[in-house]
Amino acid sequence: MADTPASAARSRLVLASGNAGKLAELQAMLADLPLEIVPQRELGVGDVAETGGTFVENALIKARHAAAATGLPALADDSGLIVDALGGAPGLYSARYAGTPTDDAANNAKLLAALDGVPEQRRSARFYAVIVLLRHADDPQPLIAEGAWEGRILTAPRGHHGFGYNPVFLDPLHGLTAAEMAPARKNRLSHRAKALQQLRERLATLTS
Ligand code: IMP
Repeated sequence: MADTPASAARSRLVLASGNAGKLAELQAMLADLPLEIVPQRELGVGDVAETGGTFVENALIKARHAAAATGLPALADDSGLIVDALGGAPGLYSARYAGTPTDDAANNAKLLAALDGVPEQRRSARFYAVIVLLRHADDPQPLIAEGAWEGRILTAPRGHHGFGYNPVFLDPLHGLTAAEMAPARKNRLSHRAKALQQLRERLATLTS
């Protein structure tokens, strides 16, 4: 690609996430694309308040903030855990379920306490992720992709990989928690992987 300012701007993308665990997953899953994906922190962009009422609104808020601050196209994701027996909680508040700053162990302990006594067949849950791509801060037609990963909440944590609710989230099809899976395996099954796959398909229809 010619090294003009315009082409450089097209191939560079800012990733609007400060969560180290999600950053690592997204960068691994996008590594084969001809894009330079720069975490917003490296460009001096801080977090923005996630004031939306839905995952997609929060993802758009984050992407718009990063695009406005950098002048680059921006990719953002918003995700969380939805537990049916808790009316969808922790949902939008997954990161700060047990308060701020985010404490994964405290979040998991609070979740297990909230589900104390709930039988296995009523412990259904899913991880959900939405990923948006804004070509610029005022892009009226963002690319929006989503994915869900169905599972069940255990009564005690298992495994050490990854972050967040991984140790208490069982994938019943594989008999493993997300924290018992090697990262590459999780990156094929997860909500984020499914959302990214959908995003790639939408990107392909745009560029073909
Ligand atoms: P976000 O940064 O606002 O999207 O917060 C997402 C929160 O949801 C994380 O801090 C985790 O608590 C939880 N979460 C989302 N995806 C995952 C995952 O793949 N594994 C474990 N927890 C997750």
